[in-house]
Amino acid sequence: MFKKIRFQMIIVIAIVSIVIFGVLSMTIEKKLNELKIHERNFYSEITRARADELSKELQGHLNKVHMVAHSDFMESMDVESILPFLSSLLNHSDFKGMTIAQPDGQAWTTYGAHIDIRAQEQFAKIFEQNKLYAISNPFYSPYFYDDVPIITLSYAIQRENTTVGLLNAVLTTRFMETIISDIQFDSYGYAWIVDGNGRIVAHPDPEIDIIHDYTKVIKEIDVQPFTAGSGFFNYVGYNDENMLAVYSTIHNTNSWKLVISVQESQAFSQLISVMNYIDTAIIISLLSLIVFAFIYARTLTNPIVKLTEVFRRAEKGDLSVVADTTIQNELGVAGHGFNRMLDEIKNLTFVDPVTQVPNYRSYLLDADRLTREHPTKQYYVVVLSVDDFKKINSMGGYGFGNETLKQFADLLGSTLYAYELIARYFGDEMILFLHAENQELVRLRVQRLLALAQRPFKIMDIEIHLSLSCGFASHESEQEVETTIHNATLAKLKAKKLGGNIAVFFEDGIQQEIKKEQDIESELFKAIEKKELYPVYQPIVDLKTMQVSGFETLLRWNHPLYYQESIQTIITIAENNSQIIEIGRYILNEAILELKRLNQTHPDMVVALNVSALQLKDTHFITFLKNRIKVIGVNPENLCIELTESTAMDDVEVKLMDLHQIKAIGCKIAIDDFGTGYSSLAYLSRFPIDHIKIDKSFVHKMMNDEPTRQLVSSMITLAHNLKLEVVAEGVETLEQVDLLKSFGCEMIQGYYISQPKRMEDLEY
Ligand code: C2E
Ligand code: CA
Ligand code: CA
Repeated sequence: MFKKIRFQMIIVIAIVSIVIFGVLSMTIEKKLNELKIHERNFYSEITRARADELSKELQGHLNKVHMVAHSDFMESMDVESILPFLSSLLNHSDFKGMTIAQPDGQAWTTYGAHIDIRAQEQFAKIFEQNKLYAISNPFYSPYFYDDVPIITLSYAIQRENTTVGLLNAVLTTRFMETIISDIQFDSYGYAWIVDGNGRIVAHPDPEIDIIHDYTKVIKEIDVQPFTAGSGFFNYVGYNDENMLAVYSTIHNTNSWKLVISVQESQAFSQLISVMNYIDTAIIISLLSLIVFAFIYARTLTNPIVKLTEVFRRAEKGDLSVVADTTIQNELGVAGHGFNRMLDEIKNLTFVDPVTQVPNYRSYLLDADRLTREHPTKQYYVVVLSVDDFKKINSMGGYGFGNETLKQFADLLGSTLYAYELIARYFGDEMILFLHAENQELVRLRVQRLLALAQRPFKIMDIEIHLSLSCGFASHESEQEVETTIHNATLAKLKAKKLGGNIAVFFEDGIQQEIKKEQDIESELFKAIEKKELYPVYQPIVDLKTMQVSGFETLLRWNHPLYYQESIQTIITIAENNSQIIEIGRYILNEAILELKRLNQTHPDMVVALNVSALQLKDTHFITFLKNRIKVIGVNPENLCIELTESTAMDDVEVKLMDLHQIKAIGCKIAIDDFGTGYSSLAYLSRFPIDHIKIDKSFVHKMMNDEPTRQLVSSMITLAHNLKLEVVAEGVETLEQVDLLKSFGCEMIQGYYISQPKRMEDLEY
């Protein structure tokens, strides 16, 4: 903005100066033009004086002719005696010849010719117009000087006031050339003569043809020249120079004009140099004024411009700017205030208020700076997330959670070396920027962090220990820090998926895994519509009777690419993006329809259905279940809802309510994958459940492993104590069947009986 003001100031000053100097130079120009007129008048004076001189010269010659013509001797017009007299006169004059003529045009010349002069112009003037004398225009005479034009000076011979004859004297034009060549102005000016018709009478340049008109001299002209008795005009000469012509009439002639031609540049050379000098002076002063204005405006506005620049950069988010506080005026004070405010903002912008460690924004800037300043170090981004942080929050509220995070941050911070960073990423996640010589060394450090977090913390008198999911990735200097963070985050997600309390290094494989997940996700969206999803059923057999007592419903996906993908993986993906809700409803509906068909022939057979944690969280799940049972019309007691142990034990108070609601509908409930989670016995006894399903991993292991065998036996005893029936999963061999029978297990399920199949392919 202030740059604009500075610019405007300069423009205003420049315009004002230009106007002042414009007026000034116009005035000077006017004065100089007046001088020009004076200069021209000077040339006019010369021309007039020289023209007068010429006319006097002519007059002199004319006087001679006059004297002869008026001698008494001439009155007789006795040609015989006059001619020798005239010839004798020629020796003492410039005349080249003389002629005496009678009124009838008969004439005799001193060079012995007898001619008729009626066609000559002087004949008409003297005899017809009764003029006393006449000067002819120059012409080439057949009798004289072939290459030199001549003029004739004629006088009337009178007897008692009557013209009885005519005397002609012939002069070459040379005498005029002598006069005009005297008129010279160095190299730039010369004189010449034209007659009343504009034909050249005399010219100093022998190349110029006499008797031709003035266009031999004047190449270009805007006006009709020689119109007045005297005057001036400008023209372009044959050398393409701008010429000034000043002319004046030569009296006693047929309106001959003496012309003085001068090169304008030369004529006004002094004037022009004065004008150039003034112009240069004006331009220099003008430029100096503008430069001065610019410098002045700069010194005045520079501090303001700098301060605005600082404001602007800060506004754009560059908080590293510092305002100049050395200026000794209000601007310095403003700079001080701004810097203080910026410190405040920096604190608010770059520090996480909960943990008092830098925030993510600060991390990005600092990591970027570190990589630039120490390019030889190998850096690693480490993302750490607290497993089950919700649990910590629910233990003691948000204050407790915040305090935990703060201590966690302090703990991480205490392990850092120079040129390393810590920041709060978001939520329960912290992010580190470490350097190490190789990946194994970072892994060791991260492992140590995991171990440190496992040690008990004391927060508000409560002892807790933290389990961390950690992802780390090496930062290549040519890549953006954010890319490395993204990679480390993907590795952390993998760590979470693997169950937490683990550190995962980012490798390209993770990226492909993620890509595949995304592909599966988008394919899954179309799966229901394309009828690619369908249920299969696996029989559950009563060990006492060895008869099928029911079926577990399991999902399958008939997809050209992913049909072999474990359905567990697909379900995890569907759970991550809530597609499981819709898929779950579809499979629930299918299972109840199947149960309806089944009960028509086998009224006591049960159909079990897997329900995931996310499905259970859906507030409409219970309503939907109730509605389907009622609309399709099945006995709810023949429907068993299977919940995994970890689903049931997460947020138990809520789960208790959910389970009671399911129970209220009349459905049976089974705890799936029993033994893999951490069941609290206290809760287990309060849950309204009917079966536990021992996870297949125990069934597989128990044949070769005594402790596992013991464990399976205890689980069955425990279940019986709680009045629950036991289903053993993954039973594949007769030996397993026998052992389970010996433990008192009620039911078995597994490949020993049948693979999960479409209902029409099953025998029961
Ligand atoms: P689950 O509920 O524990 O289901 C039993 C799993 O054991 C099934 O795997 C089944 O095919 C497999 N199985 C049965 N007998 C044997 C055996 O003798 N040996 C071995 N090795 N495996 C056996 P499946 O079908 O791949 O399902 C995996 C998991 O996916 C299920 O574990 C269940 O948690 C989930 N699931 C399957 N269908 C659904 C569904 O419709 N909804 C929900 N929410 N989860 C489902
Ligand atoms: Ca199951
Ligand atoms: Ca299971």
